[in-house]
Amino acid sequence: MVAISPSSFSIFRNYAASARAFGIVRAARAPSFNSHRLSLLLPPHSHRSLFRLSATNDEEANAKAAAANADTGASTIFDKIIAKEIPSTIVYEDEKVLAFKDINPQAPVHVVVIPKFRDGLTQLAKAEARHGEILGQLLYAAKIVAEKEGILDGFRVVINNGPGACQSVYHLHLHVLGGRQMKWPPG
Ligand code: 5GP
Repeated sequence: MVAISPSSFSIFRNYAASARAFGIVRAARAPSFNSHRLSLLLPPHSHRSLFRLSATNDEEANAKAAAANADTGASTIFDKIIAKEIPSTIVYEDEKVLAFKDINPQAPVHVVVIPKFRDGLTQLAKAEARHGEILGQLLYAAKIVAEKEGILDGFRVVINNGPGACQSVYHLHLHVLGGRQMKWPPG
C-alpha cells in the first residue's frame, strides 16, 4: 500500500508519459504500487499507460518463468497446435512449416510461423549450421503468409529470443505482423 500525495501523483504521471514517449515501457522496472487503485485517481488518458505497464510486467514475469524450462526438452503449446490437439487458424502449412494466427494479436495481421520439427531450436540462439535450410524455409514461409494476408507492401518479421526479449514459448517461431503502420524503434 502506497500513500499517494499530489507530488507522487505527478511523478507517476510524468513517469508513465515519458515511458510511453520514449518507448521504454518494456524495459521499465515494476513500480511497487497497486495500479488498479491508482488508475481510479488518474485522468483517463493515463489508464492506457498503466494498463501497458502492468501487462508488460506480466509479460516479463511469464517470459522469465518460460525460460526456466527452456532447455528441459519439455513440449510446448505449439506441439499441441502442430498435432491439432488444440485448434488454431492455420494460414499456411507444408511438410516442414506451420503458420497460424496468434491468439493474442499485436496487429491486425499477426501470424506465428514455426518449424513442425523443433530439432533443438527452442530459440534462435540455439541455431547451428545444420539448421540453415529450415531457417530459410521459415523466412520464405513468412513471405508467403504476408502475401496471403495482403500485407506485402508493409510487414514486420520478429523473433523474440530469450527472457530479455520476452520470449514465452520455447519452440522457435517468427511473428509476421502487419495491417497497420509499424513504428521504429520497436518497444
Ligand atoms: P513469444 O512471446 O514466445 O515471442 O511468442 C509466443 C506467441 O505465441 C505469443 O504471441 C502468444 O500470443 C502465442 N500463443 C501462445 N499460446 C498460443 C495458442 O494456444 N494459440 C495461438 N494461436 N497462439 C498462441
